[in-house]
Amino acid sequence: MSNDAVKNLIERRNQLTEELTHHAGLLHGTWVERYTVCSRPNCKCHRGEKHGPRFHLAVMESGKQRQHYIRLEHKDLTLRGLKHNQIVEEILQEITQINLELMKEGAYDDN
Ligand SMILES: [Zn+2]
Repeated sequence: MSNDAVKNLIERRNQLTEELTHHAGLLHGTWVERYTVCSRPNCKCHRGEKHGPRFHLAVMESGKQRQHYIRLEHKDLTLRGLKHNQIVEEILQEITQINLELMKEGAYDDN
């Protein structure tokens, strides 16, 4: 690999690192929609028309999944947060590939 190619990789990596700063609103989790059955025996939910959806964000916390209830008014905002997270994960993936390339060229360090 030429010095220019190494330089281009480092430039691309700087660009990606800068891009990360635009996604502080990220939510690292999984969207969950739940339908429930209530305790009123004659309710329509017992005949197939379940209540819901109720929205939750499933997040890993200390190795355990926790589901946080999301109010309807926060639905769109939360979905945008998940989109930010997806973009960040793609960026991390690309930075990893670049760093592995740089490592092969002896041009990788972690600062
Ligand atoms: Zn019900």
